Amino acid sequence: MTVTRFAPSPTGNLHLGHAYSALYSERVAREEGGKFLLRIEDIDGTRCRSEYIQNIYDDIEWLGVVWDDEVIVQSNRLKFYVTKAEILEQRGLLYPCFCTRKELANINGKELNREKRLYPKTCLRLTNEQVAEKKSQGVPFSLRLNSNKAKEETGKIFWNDQTTGRHEVNYDALGDVVLVRKDIGTSYHMAVTIDDDFQDVTCVTRGLDLVESTHVHRILQSLLGLQVPEWSHHKLIKGSDGNKYSKSNQSLTLKELRESGVSGAEIRKELGF
Ligand code: GLU
Repeated sequence: MTVTRFAPSPTGNLHLGHAYSALYSERVAREEGGKFLLRIEDIDGTRCRSEYIQNIYDDIEWLGVVWDDEVIVQSNRLKFYVTKAEILEQRGLLYPCFCTRKELANINGKELNREKRLYPKTCLRLTNEQVAEKKSQGVPFSLRLNSNKAKEETGKIFWNDQTTGRHEVNYDALGDVVLVRKDIGTSYHMAVTIDDDFQDVTCVTRGLDLVESTHVHRILQSLLGLQVPEWSHHKLIKGSDGNKYSKSNQSLTLKELRESGVSGAEIRKELGF
């Protein structure tokens, strides 16, 4: 049975891009007589707010989107993400990175394309003694994937996107991504992959802006022996200014639309559902 999910982060109010994503996900599930799940991705306690969670429920109901089963709230499941990271760490697949945000900006500052900057593996070169010393001094650290080691374990791996076809995981383009953030003890990558497996999601639906992350998730599935779903990355819808909707560019929110008297049915129609 097809199982899809909509997994917003309550770090702000939802906008039309989220509405599209939720409707798209629900449609994929319903077309195949499957299930559509809702998950609240609130691992970042510093940015998530309970009022945004309530607004997600209100927005979704207003849109007429109906989810199945119980809603999963990630902040209740942190211990599962920590346990899996420990397994990776014990297998030598993660290493501590003590670099500060400022240091990282300086190391990578020369690169033109900020999005494509890869970590130069500075902390991978630390000796065991140096690591032990920094830890004993209480220097905060994140844990990064040792991508060379991971590649040795997984060999060539692939994932299938119902919209863009088959992809091979390109380790070189990913670099040593952070899997355990120093501030919250886990990461989006860990939480989303573990929960998609836990909820038996068969088709991960989300926007094309997250394609890069899918490579990381496919690696984690392979390393942790998790179920491998299909993906369906959908187009990103744009506002009248030609920019994609985002929480940061002050896009009109669903809450504002709702409160101004626009109906959910009108929005569905406008978005093509
Ligand atoms: N929580 C993520 C976000 O709001 C989406 C995660 C996903 O769909 O995989 O951007």
